Amino acid sequence: MKRLLLAACLLGGWGSGHSQAVENLIIVTTDGLRWQEVFGGMDTALANTRRFNEGDSILLYQQYWHADATERRKKLMPFLWSTFSSQGQVYGNRWLGSRVNNANPYWFSYPGYSELLTGHVDTAINTNNYPPNPHVTLLEFLHQRPGMLGRVAAFGAWEAFDRILNEGRSGIPVVSAFDTTASISNSTHLQLVNNMLRDSYKPWGQGECLDVFTHYAAFETLKGMQPRVLYIAYGETDEWAHAGKYRSYLQAARQVDAWLQQLWQYLQSHPQYRNKTALLFTTDHGRGDKVKSQWTDHGNKIEGANETWFALLAPGLAPRGEMKEHETLYQQQLAQTMARLMGLRYQARHAVSPEVPMVFQKP
Ligand SMILES: [Zn+2]
Repeated sequence: MKRLLLAACLLGGWGSGHSQAVENLIIVTTDGLRWQEVFGGMDTALANTRRFNEGDSILLYQQYWHADATERRKKLMPFLWSTFSSQGQVYGNRWLGSRVNNANPYWFSYPGYSELLTGHVDTAINTNNYPPNPHVTLLEFLHQRPGMLGRVAAFGAWEAFDRILNEGRSGIPVVSAFDTTASISNSTHLQLVNNMLRDSYKPWGQGECLDVFTHYAAFETLKGMQPRVLYIAYGETDEWAHAGKYRSYLQAARQVDAWLQQLWQYLQSHPQYRNKTALLFTTDHGRGDKVKSQWTDHGNKIEGANETWFALLAPGLAPRGEMKEHETLYQQQLAQTMARLMGLRYQARHAVSPEVPMVFQKP
C-alpha cells in the first residue's frame, strides 16, 4: 500500500500527504466578505458608528461581541471556526502572515469570479456587464469529464452567474437571481421555493435575489439530483456592505456559516458524499479597511480591496487549520487546487494557474 501511494505521488507530481481523490466538489462563495470579519469577527469601530449599525448597536454587541478576537470570530462564524479550523485549512489571516490576493487588477465581482473559476486573469474582463465568459471554467471542464453530464449545477443570487459560467455554451444549469429551477427539477419543495422567490421582497430589483432563495433552491437540488459538482454563490454580504448596513452584513455572514453547517451535515450523512467530498468556501474580493468608512466599497481605488481568504475541507487534507507565514497566494490558484483534489488536471485554452502547494504538503 505504501509503495502504491508513493507511486501515485511520483506519477502525479504531487507533494506527499494527499493522494485520495474526492468524487464530489462543493464550492460556496459569499460576495465581498472581508477577511477582517472572517478572522477578527465584528469590527467595533463599525458597530459603534451610527451610520452603519442600523440603530441597534446593543443587538450587535449581544450577538457578536467578545473581548477575545478568537472567541469573537466564533460568534460570527461558528462552523468555520470549529469544523474548517479543526479538520481543514483556512487561509487569509494577514495578522498571522497568511496572505491571499486577487491576481486580477480590478477587485470587483465578475473579474473575481472569473479568476476563481477559470484559474486565469483576463484583463479584458473589466466590467460586471461583461458578456458570456469566453473561457471554459472549471465547472464546464468538469462537466465534460466522463460520467459528469447532468451532474453539475450552479446557483447564484446574482444574475451575472449565467454569463460568468457561460450557461449557454457550458450546458450547466445556472439558477441565478429570479431564474426558477424548472429546468432541473419540479419537486414540490422546489415549486414552493420558486413561488416564494417570485413573490419575495426585491431590494435589488431583478438583478439579485435574497440569499435564502438561492440557498434552498441549491439545497433541495443537492438532495434531489445529487450533483457531483455544485456551486452556490451568495450575494447579500456585498449588497448590505454597499448599503452601509453593518448589522445586516454581519447577519448575512452569520447565516452563510449556518448554511455551510447544514450542507456539511447533509453531505456527511449521505453515502455518495460522506468522506468523498471537497468543500471550498471563499469570496470574490475584499473591501476597504485602512480608511474605516471605506468598508462599504471595493474596486482598485480602495486600498486592501484585493485582499481575500479561503477555507477548505476535504478528506485526506492535512488538518492544518488556520494558516500562517506563507508565500502570498492568489485567487487564480484555487481552480487547479480543486481539480487536483478531484484527481484531475484542469486544462483549457487559457493558461491555468498552478494549485496552492500547501494543500498537498504535509504540515
Ligand atoms: Zn460589490
